[in-house]
Amino acid sequence: MESFFSRIWSVMAPERVRFFLWLVGKQCVMTNAERKRRHLCDSDICPVCKGGVETLIHIIRDCPAMQGIWTRLVPARKQHEFFMKPLLPWLYENLGEDGVTFGVPWSTLFGMSIWWGWKWRCGNLFGENGKCRDRVRFLKDLAKEVLTVSEACLTQNPKPLREERMIRWIQPQTGWVKLNTDGASRGNPGSAAADGVLRNNYGEWCGGFALHIGRCTAPVAELWGVYYGLCFAWDRKIVKLEVEIDSELVVGFLTTGIGDSHPLSFLVHLCHGFIKRDWEVRISHVYREANHLADGLANYAFTLALGLHSFVEAPRDVISILQDDVLGSAYPRNVCIS
Ligand SMILES: [Zn+2]
Repeated sequence: MESFFSRIWSVMAPERVRFFLWLVGKQCVMTNAERKRRHLCDSDICPVCKGGVETLIHIIRDCPAMQGIWTRLVPARKQHEFFMKPLLPWLYENLGEDGVTFGVPWSTLFGMSIWWGWKWRCGNLFGENGKCRDRVRFLKDLAKEVLTVSEACLTQNPKPLREERMIRWIQPQTGWVKLNTDGASRGNPGSAAADGVLRNNYGEWCGGFALHIGRCTAPVAELWGVYYGLCFAWDRKIVKLEVEIDSELVVGFLTTGIGDSHPLSFLVHLCHGFIKRDWEVRISHVYREANHLADGLANYAFTLALGLHSFVEAPRDVISILQDDVLGSAYPRNVCIS
């Protein structure tokens, strides 16, 4: 089923079309057959042709109105098979068919036809159908348009280039102290921990803390890590502080702000209160690979009693990570370079 839905989401068609195909794939489109089964109506007959039971496959393929369109789109030699298949195999095979028909990939023409078949049907039933002289011509033109737009999008926004880069922790500049913080939640929400560690430009441990919080979500844990980290650094009279966090979400909150109604705003405002004090604070995002020490300390925090623990020296559990960082150990990561 995974490959079935991935076919639906990869069809070159507007999002609303793919969404409708997904509903069809989930068999979530309401039909008279379904209404009758649920005792919501007395008749399961198709209100358009009045000649068959209105099932999903009847709506999108077998109702004479749709059948007429399909017989003009599907090559004659393939029609027997096309009209015999049950719903899901029928969708699966046609959505995977990339052969070009009338100048467009078949999966696009197929998806667009199902969507418009449905729209026309709803229009007929609700009496707002405009005149459409040649529906087959209309579908072919539309599918071509989709192709042109997709191709234009691809040339304007080519797929982001990725490259394997070696990522490592980098020492702060002279005169600065670096704070690496992290927060983790096992279960999100679940048992959570946060921590922070201060290092100088030799990579030496200048103090750290771990907080075993109890139950909360990951962003809350991350923000507690930042807040306690700022308190911790301020108490140690640091005047130039570089803060590194591996959550882009949290970095976004701290650098561009947060709405007052956001549930995390009180924590972000607490952090801002500290950042605005009389010292220099830089906030930046780093990859997890550059935040190993804070990550390791968060794991260690889970083994501690609930509450705040301060470490003048590095706990034994994280000493090897501390040494690796000093040595400049790097870890590969696939990063976007465009
Ligand atoms: Zn019908």
